[in-house]
Amino acid sequence: MRAVQYLEIGQPPRVVDVDVPEPGPGQILLRVTAAGVCHSDLTVMGWDAADFPYQLPLTLGHEGAGVVEAVGEDVHAVSAGDSVIVYGPWGCGTCHACALGRENYCPRAAGLGIVPPGLGRPGALAEYLLVDSERHVVPIGDLDPVKTVPLTDAGLTPYHAIKRSLAKLRPGSVAVVIGAGGLGHVGIQLLRAMSAATVVALDIREESRELALRSGAHHALPSDAGAVDTVRDLTGGAGAQAVFDFVGAQATLDLAAQMAGMDSDIDVVGIGGGTLPVTFDSPPYATRVSTSYWGTRPELIELVELARQGVLDVHVERYGLEEGPQVYEHMEAGKIQGRAVVVP
Ligand code: NAD
Ligand code: ZN
Ligand code: ZN
Repeated sequence: MRAVQYLEIGQPPRVVDVDVPEPGPGQILLRVTAAGVCHSDLTVMGWDAADFPYQLPLTLGHEGAGVVEAVGEDVHAVSAGDSVIVYGPWGCGTCHACALGRENYCPRAAGLGIVPPGLGRPGALAEYLLVDSERHVVPIGDLDPVKTVPLTDAGLTPYHAIKRSLAKLRPGSVAVVIGAGGLGHVGIQLLRAMSAATVVALDIREESRELALRSGAHHALPSDAGAVDTVRDLTGGAGAQAVFDFVGAQATLDLAAQMAGMDSDIDVVGIGGGTLPVTFDSPPYATRVSTSYWGTRPELIELVELARQGVLDVHVERYGLEEGPQVYEHMEAGKIQGRAVVVP
């Protein structure tokens, strides 16, 4: 089968031929119907050999959807022909966090060598994808896999971050979304669907600001000091109740600290390499600063329900599998709006 692989540190990925995997006991083989492409892959491919944690070659793609092609022994929850999406942050399945469906925070996964597809294990940018357990698939029925596959990360990650801050997003509150790309534009739609907050989007790209407005943002502003004044104006000087930073660069974390109000949340989702110093009075008193990683299994199931209700409209740009390497070039050049999805 054809697969988009990262073969050599510092070199662009290539489309290569690899064997179709066979499902062992408990495993599921999917014929991939869609695979979303996340900005995190660019970060991964930017690491040098000394820091690179995975084996090469690595089949990329940690957002996967597919139709069950074959199942191994002891798989009962799905059968051939089922259309599913893949829950990516696999855990051990037995610890307390995993029992709660919070496999994204499984403390045992790393020690057991359990890694997500596309981030260590062979990923979804291929014709077939092997999934380790029926726990990790969520049936999507007749939902369009191309529009639904981004929910596995571009949807799940903001959903998880927003849910953690939801209590602060009462009517009259202001939520700031920095970076209206793959994750951010879905984050805006989720904020509108889940809260009565006024949503302010910040992005350096005009096309992303337009997508933010189409996604339901009340305001879309260039990501600069002027936005701090606007947020202060909108809140009578108080500052935002929650800031979701889907960039995480120094410039955006600085803005987040300046826009946040007292007793607010700053959720750092982007892995842009910035730091946010916390001193007694900056960010403002009682602000909670946290990172968050991906999302939980129950949250992915909830998101599929939201998609069924028709409240989400993920903006996707389709590519063929042979164009996989080009997707990363386009992403690096800032030419992708919403989520790029590879359809093998
Ligand atoms: P993307 O490329 O689709 O979108 C990024 C957006 O940010 C673009 O619209 C871009 O114009 C904008 N942007 C870039 N620099 C900016 C700046 N200085 N100020 C304002 N906007 C700026 O990326 P994505 O796939 O949505 O991923 C977003 C970030 O989230 C990445 O850092 C990615 O690695 C990270 N990520 C984290 C998790 C997690 O679990 N924490 C999961 C997935 C992705
Ligand atoms: Zn990702
Ligand atoms: Zn676990």
